Amino acid sequence: MVTAYVGIGANLGDPTHTVRSAIAALQGLTDTRLSASSSLFASAPVDAGGSDFVNAVARIDTTLEAETLLLELQRIEQAFGRERPFRNAPRTLDLDLLLYGQAEILSSRLEVPHPRMTGRAFVLKPLLELDAMIHIPGKGHAQDFLASVEDQRIHAIDCAQASALHSD
Ligand code: ADP
Ligand code: MG
Repeated sequence: MVTAYVGIGANLGDPTHTVRSAIAALQGLTDTRLSASSSLFASAPVDAGGSDFVNAVARIDTTLEAETLLLELQRIEQAFGRERPFRNAPRTLDLDLLLYGQAEILSSRLEVPHPRMTGRAFVLKPLLELDAMIHIPGKGHAQDFLASVEDQRIHAIDCAQASALHSD
């Protein structure tokens, strides 16, 4: 059994609903148990276009191999109708495998820890909410990267604020 962390992001349609549904989909994965999910956060797009993202991080215990888990995450993305018309396009749902136990993986399909996670407040904040002491293999303590992302606009949201944010 491996503890893995999944980053969730959405900025099309009703992103709050999408993120909550994605967490439910993770809960339904085969050979996997959802053990925790973070608050939802609203963040300004970093490398992508469109309106604010809604982000969260989920912690799962799984017996799936990392590559199999990635395929399952991509299957969930597809089920939410993700389209890829151009690089960094706004997306219905983005699921990233952030951490897979203490593993460091580099293949043509998968890099773990996720290579851009330490530069993204929308990953670090929800991740640290789940485990303030978490260590990123090969990189160090997640909290040590917070200072470098403090200029990124992000805040925790509740459901009511989220629907107001995206009502226009
Ligand atoms: P990002 O999530 O960084 O914005 P994309 O979701 O567009 O980028 O990238 C998807 C591609 O990244 C897939 O082809 C997948 O094989 C690859 N990839 C490599 N490592 C990971 C990872 N840890 N989690 C998710 N996708 C990954
Ligand atoms: Mg991705």
